[in-house]
Amino acid sequence: MRQLTLKEKVNIIKDYTEQLTPMITLAKQHNRSRHGIWKLLNKAGVDTSKRKITVSCSTCGKEIKRTKARIRRQLNHFCDYTCYFAFLEAGNGNPYIQSSQGQRIARVKAAEYIELKDGYIVHHEDRNTLNNMIHNLKVFRNQGDHIRYHRGFAIEPLWDGNKL
Ligand SMILES: [Zn+2]
Ligand SMILES: [Zn+2]
Repeated sequence: MRQLTLKEKVNIIKDYTEQLTPMITLAKQHNRSRHGIWKLLNKAGVDTSKRKITVSCSTCGKEIKRTKARIRRQLNHFCDYTCYFAFLEAGNGNPYIQSSQGQRIARVKAAEYIELKDGYIVHHEDRNTLNNMIHNLKVFRNQGDHIRYHRGFAIEPLWDGNKL
């Protein structure tokens, strides 16, 4: 079995630490044993224990501990169900909500009052995307602010149709 090049070793370490690629996958990719990969990582001072690592809640940003396996499986992480539901309610996890007919009408209406830049989100205060009355609409700077508003944080919208 030929030696791994330095570049290959660096890539293995990067894949393991940054992409969270499992050791067994790296072993198959590089035609090594899992133990061989384990030895390489340990020699480089990489932590190969199963301890949890810290990630941020996708809604509120709070730090939470998750296993590496779970981080690989899920794109978003939540500190509790309230944050999870706020995220769903704000249209994440469902790409159709942002492009729905209600959202399109809301954008046309809000655009009469505020220039809608890329990333700006039009929010329906009563959560009904078919209710496009001006007083029901607010505009947030980005989806992060929008989600946090759904979560109940005091986020000021850029524009508020209810304050006209
Ligand atoms: Zn949270
Ligand atoms: Zn909303």
